[in-house]
Amino acid sequence: MSELKGWREIPIGGVAWKLSIENKTGDWSPFKPKIDQTKCTKCLICWILCPDMAMEWDGEKVREKHDYCKGCGICANECPVKCISMVRG
Ligand code: SF4
Ligand code: SF4
Repeated sequence: MSELKGWREIPIGGVAWKLSIENKTGDWSPFKPKIDQTKCTKCLICWILCPDMAMEWDGEKVREKHDYCKGCGICANECPVKCISMVRG
C-alpha cells in the first residue's frame, strides 16, 4: 500500500469561491430531472433530499432548477411515486 501524500506534494486544485447562486453549476450535467406534474403528490421528498437545492417549492408546485442540478438522480430514485424521469439535456 502506498503512503499518503502530504499537503506539500498534492497538486494545486480549484476551489469554487462564489456562492452557487452566482456560479451556475448545472450546465455540465448530462441528465436533468423532469417532473410529471400530473403524478406528483407534492410530498416534497425530492425538495428535501436534493443535495444541491435544485428543486424549488413555490407553495403550489415543485419545480426543477436546472441551472444548479448536477444530475445525480437522487430525486428520481427517491420519489415515492416515480414521477421524476432523468432525461438527456
Ligand atoms: S438530479 Fe440530483 S441535483 Fe438534480 S434535482 Fe435531482 S437530486 Fe437535485
Ligand atoms: S418526490 Fe416526487 S411526488 Fe414528491 S414532490 Fe418530488 S416529484 Fe412530487
